[in-house]
Parts: sequence; C-alpha cells; structure tokens
Amino acid sequence: MAEKILLVEDEEKLARMVELELRYEGYEVDKAFDGRSGLDRALSGGYDLILLDIMLPALSGMEVLRRLRRESQTPVIMLTARDTVVDKVAGLDSGADDYITKPFAIEELLARIRAALRKRPAAQELPRLTCGPLVMDVERHEVTVKGAEVELTRREFDLLRCLLEHKEKVLTREALLDNVWGFDFAGETNAVDVYIRFLRSKIDEKFGVKIIHTVRGVGYVIREED
Ligand code: CA
Repeated sequence: MAEKILLVEDEEKLARMVELELRYEGYEVDKAFDGRSGLDRALSGGYDLILLDIMLPALSGMEVLRRLRRESQTPVIMLTARDTVVDKVAGLDSGADDYITKPFAIEELLARIRAALRKRPAAQELPRLTCGPLVMDVERHEVTVKGAEVELTRREFDLLRCLLEHKEKVLTREALLDNVWGFDFAGETNAVDVYIRFLRSKIDEKFGVKIIHTVRGVGYVIREED
C-alpha cells in the first residue's frame, strides 16, 4: 500500500510541484493550504508523514505542530523559508522530526522523507486503549470489537477515547463536554447523551457487549461487564 503524505503549504505552485514529484515516487498525497485545515486533516489520521510549512495563514505551522503532538506521533518535516537557529530549535522542541529550508532540491526532500518514514515506531509500539473486547489504536484512528472494525465519526471517536482514557472512572456530562467538545461549546449537555447513544448502538448493541454504562444522576463510565 502506498504511503500517504499530507502536505500543508500555502504557496500553491510549490505545493503542486512537490505533490507531482511525490506522486511520481509512488506516494499518495493530500494537500492543505492553511494551518487550520491542515491540522484538521492531520488529526483525522491515516497519514504516514506530514510536510508542514511554518509560515501559514489561519494557524502557524508551529502551532499546528504543537496541537498535533498532543495526540499524534506521525512524523513531521517542517518546511521553511527562514533558515534561523531559533526556528530550528523551536520546531524540533515542538516535536518536529526534521527540518528543510526552502528553496530545497526535491532529491533532498525525498531523502529526508525516506529517512523519517524509516524511523517510525513499529506498529506494536503505537498507543492502544482497551476495554475488554474493544481496542482503540489512537494513532491509526481505528477501533475494533472482537477484531471487527467499528466505523466511527471523529466526534464519536473522541468521546470514546475520552472514556477509555478514564476507564472505570465515572465522568460527568460536563467533564465530557469540556474534554470532547471544548470549553467554548455553546450547545446543550444532552449532546453527550446523543453521542453516547450512537456509540452504544455501534458497539454494545451491535456486538452484544456491555461496556458503556450510565451512572444515574452522575454521568457515564466505560468498563468491562461484571
Ligand atoms: Ca508559507
């Protein structure tokens, strides 16, 4: 299967040129032209590597990297026009795997990409969250129950992940809202109930298990059935 690269670069001509070269080398390529859409795509998972420009509209490359590293260890190579030590140090401190200064020769970029892909952690080292028959591979954005894959939306995945990270601890609706929807979410706390119902129908009901429990008057907890 072709390795998948996300290219976040606002200079469209450069992005197009790099895309063509990468495709020619056999990589699959997605592009984003600003930091915010780049971050959204990067977080949706499924990329083997991310090429991230530093000077981006909407959200800087450095900020994209910081937010990405809260939940993903996908290799990142920073692209920048500014060859300053400060940038380099800040980028590497924020978890960039490598760094390349524009303008670069495409062969140089390809060599860096191959090196970064080789350094990836082996599959068994990737973070996994489990509860009985349920396994979440955070990095790959995959959930299985009894080995069968479960299709989840981004929000369902985030809610399930939050429950799994606090396995056997009861979380209030407010805590789940803060964690999954963010403090600035203006909706009702029953959004949590709605999404819990979605998760139950896709997991508990579909597979005949009981792991997502309601604690009346308090909230929700994920644990194996007794
Ligand atoms: Ca730029």
